Amino acid sequence: LATQAHAAKYTIATDTTFAPFEFQVKGGKYKGIDIDLLQAIAKKEHFTYQLKALSFNAAVQQLSANQVDGVIAGMNITSARKATFDFSKPYYSSGVVMAVTKDSSVKNFKQLKGKTVALKTGTAGATFGKSIQAKYGFKIKYFNDSNTMYNDVKVGNSVACFEDYPVMSYGIKNGIPLKIVSKQHEAGDYGFAVKKGKNAALLKKFNAGLAAIKADGTYQKILNRYLHAKE
Ligand code: GLN
Repeated sequence: LATQAHAAKYTIATDTTFAPFEFQVKGGKYKGIDIDLLQAIAKKEHFTYQLKALSFNAAVQQLSANQVDGVIAGMNITSARKATFDFSKPYYSSGVVMAVTKDSSVKNFKQLKGKTVALKTGTAGATFGKSIQAKYGFKIKYFNDSNTMYNDVKVGNSVACFEDYPVMSYGIKNGIPLKIVSKQHEAGDYGFAVKKGKNAALLKKFNAGLAAIKADGTYQKILNRYLHAKE
């Protein structure tokens, strides 16, 4: 963790697989909107960091346990999370959608009755799924990463999953054999998080760097890199 005595070197956690925000490329390196934004912001603000890829839930838990300095992982800014974390200015907007296999006849929540729904532990999608479970009477199976969640739907163990719209639609464009069948349900914009009351200097740098890369066009260039091209 960063100490006051030296030039700040932070440990920043991210998700193992959440394209186009973070994903591993050949050789083990990480790429994606979050990764490139962080890199550009750090360069502007002269701080260094080590990236730590974890399951999303582990990243959030390590942040709340002070084991990492920050999380950038397509993380929604929610009022519940604000009790534990301080967030940067929002940098991307997102909502939760339901996805099913391409040939599925499931089109709405009512059709989930008695079936199993795949959710990713600790996510806004999981919170949303849980919030409608009693009303629609489905079972829940939890996964630690998005790919194994999609796979459970693909092989037919679960009939649906709940995922962030930009991630699900990017995945589908890049070959995940699912389709989106719901509108986007409000989940809060994405923000960079630090533990509440800690790392105010880092948060300030992140916000300043974000404003700077928005102003000089770098932010838009990074989005275009991932949203207008295939992996
Ligand atoms: N956006 C979702 C959340 O904040 C999921 C993030 C993720 O899976 N990396 O909970």
